[in-house]
Amino acid sequence: MAGEPQADCLFCKIVSGDVPATVVRETDTTVAFRDINPQAPTHVLVIPKVHHPDGASLAAAEPAIAADVLREAGEVAREEKIDATGYRIVFNTGSGAGQTVFHAHAHVLGGRGLQWPPG
Ligand code: AMP
Ligand code: ZN
Repeated sequence: MAGEPQADCLFCKIVSGDVPATVVRETDTTVAFRDINPQAPTHVLVIPKVHHPDGASLAAAEPAIAADVLREAGEVAREEKIDATGYRIVFNTGSGAGQTVFHAHAHVLGGRGLQWPPG
């Protein structure tokens, strides 16, 4: 069922604690943890605790939780002190866009200059 934990999902396992992560923030509905392969000095992933395959699917099914993810992305940026210099919130969606984990997640990237347009 939509939103239920998926046995084969890496990020559901991080939510349950079965896979360790460096957690920087947690709320009733979200977890934020450091990306294992950082692409910038600050690279944190914010995920909903519920399973949906991507950000748009999450927003369609549970808009309040999608808002929680975005708000937490902003809180991470503030705590990491990248809000003043600028940061990027990215939802890679689909394998052609580089999505490799099909549990909705926002990348929060900052701490260096960020190119536009992205590659
Ligand atoms: P995406 O390619 O947009 O699906 O993003 C998935 C991200 O998850 C990548 O940036 C990976 O480096 C990251 N990642 C994969 N496994 C882990 C893990 N065990 N802990 C933290 N981040 C991870
Ligand atoms: Zn999942």
